[in-house]
Amino acid sequence: MAASYDLIVLGGGSGGIATARRAAAHGANVLLVEPGRLGGTCVNVGCVPKKVMWHAADFAERAEHAVDYGFDGERPAHDWGRLVANRRTYIERLNGVYERNLRADGVEHVAGFGAFVAPRTVRVSGVDYAANHVLIATGGRAQRPSIAGAELGTDSDGFFEWQALPASVAIAGSGYIACELAGVLAELGSHVTLLLRREHVLRDFDAMLGEKLIEHLQAAGIDVQFNRETTALAKTSDGQVQATFTDGQTSQPFERFLWAVGREPNTADLGLETAGLEPNSSHAIEVDEWQDTRVPGVHALGDVTPAPELTPVAIAAGRNLADRLFGGQRDARLDYTNIPSVVFTHPPIGTVGLSEAVARRIYGDDAIRVYTSQYVALYHGVLNNKTASAMKLVCAGPDETVVGAHVIGDGADEMLQGIAVAVKMGATKADFDATVAIHPTSAEEFVTMT
Ligand SMILES: Cc1cc2nc3c(=O)[nH]c(=O)nc-3n(C[C@H](O)[C@H](O)[C@H](O)COP(=O)(O)OP(=O)(O)OC[C@H]3O[C@@H](n4cnc5c(N)ncnc54)[C@H](O)[C@@H]3O)c2cc1C
Repeated sequence: MAASYDLIVLGGGSGGIATARRAAAHGANVLLVEPGRLGGTCVNVGCVPKKVMWHAADFAERAEHAVDYGFDGERPAHDWGRLVANRRTYIERLNGVYERNLRADGVEHVAGFGAFVAPRTVRVSGVDYAANHVLIATGGRAQRPSIAGAELGTDSDGFFEWQALPASVAIAGSGYIACELAGVLAELGSHVTLLLRREHVLRDFDAMLGEKLIEHLQAAGIDVQFNRETTALAKTSDGQVQATFTDGQTSQPFERFLWAVGREPNTADLGLETAGLEPNSSHAIEVDEWQDTRVPGVHALGDVTPAPELTPVAIAAGRNLADRLFGGQRDARLDYTNIPSVVFTHPPIGTVGLSEAVARRIYGDDAIRVYTSQYVALYHGVLNNKTASAMKLVCAGPDETVVGAHVIGDGADEMLQGIAVAVKMGATKADFDATVAIHPTSAEEFVTMT
């Protein structure tokens, strides 16, 4: 007979671990199933290694500025291999921390892929486990187009395995991962070509952010090419990769080719039909606002659902679910409105709430007032090569409630969390204006816009 639990969690990533630990803290008997390294995408091939690389690129950018700040001497040489080794050590330490935390919380961990063999029974390496509740938190994986030679390119997982900085890289994609990795590689010294299918980046963000970001990418020496849909990849005689586009043109050869064309949920091998579930047309599992699927006792959250693909979203959804199922908090659920996020480009982008276009659609043009600011941050004041930052507040209704705040510029990454609190609380433009500025900072622009 199958061993029995209160909760089985499929996936030891951000959402799965958070749910398992919170459920165990409420006294539930929990089994967590994970085939790979604990921590999932974020820790192993996502936010964490990406942010380490962003910091390295940030150093490189600041080194360029050093001369205008009175420093002399050569720009320090960069050892990609040493950075990657240090990054690996850090992540292995985090993997260990996750393992110890699970053990300390009394969560049982079994290594392997789980798949349903009945609505609330899963099989892992030939062994069956049953539970009152099963959580699907299996995340997603990078997509590649089905074109000739697609395997000659790699994806963000592959990027994190590179042992040396390539001299030249093409990146296909216009989302945040494409833009972030383009920035990292360019700042560290690669010649980067960004191949956009159309004419924009960050399609789902406020239009100002994408427009300004393209200017910054180009100013950083990135060759941004528009209307470039790749239809085939081929190897050149010297082992490089060459792309063919829809118009029949071919690219110059690149040392590396990176796909960043989207991610898809990990639902293919879960035996969902056995559980009575069917993924939607995007392969995601549909859930209601309680993270419940249509099968009683089967729940899903994080990147395997249509929710925003962000670690804190998966964590918060999981903790709320555990509080509801095992902590007696019947109304616990994640409020998915006003979720802030940052894009770690150079400079970074911070955003919360509605874009101007969406706000206009929802409230109507007459009800929307938009405040913008373009400024050169004091840090750039003494630089020969100055870049401008940009900010936008989208306000709605007669009391000008701030329904969207967007910024691209130095410090945006650390600026937005506090702004998100204000937006979540329903702050109005007058509340922003009544807040005394912190001077001299970039953040003060948020409370001085007219
Ligand atoms: C390059 C990159 C950069 C990112 N940067 C950021 C960032 O800066 N900020 C941010 O908030 N988010 C970022 N993200 C997104 C973030 O990593 C995800 O939103 C988050 O990891 C989702 O958590 P999850 O628990 O849903 O899935 P994951 O963390 O992906 O965990 C899913 C786990 O399920 C396991 N699994 C798969 N199939 C099975 C199975 N059959 N049985 C058992 N286990 C299974 C997988 O091995 C994996 O460990 C980034 C992602 C990428 C790829």
